[in-house]
Amino acid sequence: MAIWIEYRCENMNEPSAEGSHIRRCESLDNSGPMGMTAKDTREAVAVTLRILDEDAVNYGWKRTPAGWVCAFCAEQLGLK
Ligand SMILES: [Zn+2]
Repeated sequence: MAIWIEYRCENMNEPSAEGSHIRRCESLDNSGPMGMTAKDTREAVAVTLRILDEDAVNYGWKRTPAGWVCAFCAEQLGLK
């Protein structure tokens, strides 16, 4: 069994996530860090999470006390 992991923006249900017809919260478009482990072991999941954390940083996502926020919402919220 494989395990699929996708990061979802913690701000995606807030009004500021809607943005415009040009750009909006990445999770509203099912975009963002995601990946699959080939094995269903805790170790394989931990490795995948480390990779997704790196992807999130590279994509401009911000880690907050509430969880990950996408690059678009981070801009709307003034997160640095
Ligand atoms: Zn977002």
